Amino acid sequence: MDRNKTRKIKLGNIYIGGGEPISVQSMTNTKTEDYESTINQIKRLENAGCEIVRVAVPGEEAGMALEKICAKAKIPVIADIHFDYKLALLSLESGVSGLRINPGNIGAKWKVEEVVRAAKNRSVPIRIGVNAGSLEKELMKKYGGAVPEAMVESAESHIRILEDLDFHDIKVSLKASDVDRTIKAYSLFAEKSDIPLHLGITEAGGLYPGIVKSSIGLGLMLSKGIGDTIRVSLSRDPVEEVRVGFEILKALGLRQKGIDIISCPTCGRCRFDLFKVLEDVEKELINIDYPLKVAIMGCTVNGPGEAREADIGIAGGDMEGILFKKGKVIKKIPQDKMVETLVSEIKEMMSS
Ligand code: SF4
Repeated sequence: MDRNKTRKIKLGNIYIGGGEPISVQSMTNTKTEDYESTINQIKRLENAGCEIVRVAVPGEEAGMALEKICAKAKIPVIADIHFDYKLALLSLESGVSGLRINPGNIGAKWKVEEVVRAAKNRSVPIRIGVNAGSLEKELMKKYGGAVPEAMVESAESHIRILEDLDFHDIKVSLKASDVDRTIKAYSLFAEKSDIPLHLGITEAGGLYPGIVKSSIGLGLMLSKGIGDTIRVSLSRDPVEEVRVGFEILKALGLRQKGIDIISCPTCGRCRFDLFKVLEDVEKELINIDYPLKVAIMGCTVNGPGEAREADIGIAGGDMEGILFKKGKVIKKIPQDKMVETLVSEIKEMMSS
């Protein structure tokens, strides 16, 4: 898949843009000042493969907690700040790897200059996060609403402030809560700029609407080569956001992560409890990151074909299944032995 040529920026120990792998990020939803809970959540996110984490810094107490949080996090921490330049400076002193702040909202020029100088001294990039829900009043008036053109102009005005101060380690997001507007805004921006893009559909909703909106929105943009890092927004445990993020990238062949399990939806031909076997296998393999394709299929109609094509697979029979490995039939296994057999065979394949 051809990807847009964006400039490369460094965020802590990872690169964004310039053809680097598209990273998956999330945001904690603990109270940042409760640093123990925040660190615990970051650890859970890291275990799920999260590559960048953002934390809200709504006040000084949260800012003060950042030092401990940054010291424990293995992945880059981004401070999410609205308006307050002092919180931006405090976050930078505390060791964050990135800032999310819109320079046009900081206020007096000297305040912006202080933040930019401190960010530059520490080689910390800044994300300009345009959100359709909080667009500048003048732009709303000029365009008659938060249309994509207004969102892009907002981003450009913030970018100008940073570039006038010779600051170029920038990434941009242009989020709206509907797919159409978000795609138009990002597409419009991507035509004009080489600044790397953080993709997201904001306030996408709960699990089902959130997954659907993010998959369609991010999927369409990524398939056109737009996007350098992604965040799926779900009104859920942020660990789910990371899982969905990787599934989107995997589905488009942009990243490999974990074991790829294919399974059929079952129908009246299925004669064993495929859903239970699948669920148990998924639980066993959830933290294993190895490039392997596993097929769990309900019957002998499509089962043998898929199981043969996978590295390992099961084609279901009557309360049993035929185990295939590297295209060959190995043996029949009863349903109650499917999970342990599959898992132990997979572990053996990984160690050989
Ligand atoms: Fe039905 Fe068999 Fe296809 Fe599964 S593989 S959906 S059980 S026909």
